[in-house]
Amino acid sequence: MTKGKIHSLESFGTVDGPGVRYVVFVQGCPMRCLYCHNPDTWEMRDGTLTDPQEIIDNYERNRPFYQNGGGLTVTGGEPLMQVDFLIDLFTLAKQHGIHTDIDTSGIAYRPENKEFIAKLDKLMELTDLVMLDIKHIDPEKHKELTSQPNDGILAFVRYLDEKNVDMWIRHVIVPGLTDDDEYLYKLGYFIGQFHNLKALDALPYHTMGKSKYEKLGIDYPLGDTPPMDQKILLEKKQVILQGIKDRRAEAGIPHDDSVLLDA
Ligand code: SF4
Repeated sequence: MTKGKIHSLESFGTVDGPGVRYVVFVQGCPMRCLYCHNPDTWEMRDGTLTDPQEIIDNYERNRPFYQNGGGLTVTGGEPLMQVDFLIDLFTLAKQHGIHTDIDTSGIAYRPENKEFIAKLDKLMELTDLVMLDIKHIDPEKHKELTSQPNDGILAFVRYLDEKNVDMWIRHVIVPGLTDDDEYLYKLGYFIGQFHNLKALDALPYHTMGKSKYEKLGIDYPLGDTPPMDQKILLEKKQVILQGIKDRRAEAGIPHDDSVLLDA
């Protein structure tokens, strides 16, 4: 079995997918999001090699807590950088009847890499939910924000729709950086065309990651940017939702307002 490079494990996660979840934070991410609150997961060479069976054994010890719609989430870092490990982990998870969820930026998606796609196809058969964090809908602004392009990420959305894998879209709203109504509407309009879109999770920017930057000796890129105001967040979510509704109306896709998750 392929071991994973793991940053940390959390037994009772409540913000990483439906219900109470066992959360695996993998090590390594090629993005450099300005608002990242886990810069300690960036480096590929760090992390602890961990066997999938160990993770499933841990899960089984606390199984009663994950009843009622919980399960296993892999986040990071970037999970899809370790696709072999994910296949082995989720194969075991499915043998144990566990709900599986990947929280990803989609940056690892490489449609031209046939070997990767064959593995991804296999992984998607074992995956109940993908939570895809689209950082910015505009290509240029995405690059400024994350250091990486977003064309592969947007192609990954289409891929998930073709594979009919349930998808939640997550979007972090940062004052002055990702809160422009024009782009929020465009984001909604883009994702509104996909039948597999099951939820929209607009997340407020917070500054809790600041101390990690200090520990790592890295300048905090967002300086004095304030946390996202909760009331404004709700207004911004409505802008994305309007984009979703308009696109769904045009495409004749039935719309359900419950797609908007609670803040
Ligand atoms: S994709 Fe996630 S882990 Fe990677 S830099 Fe961005 S916020 Fe941080």
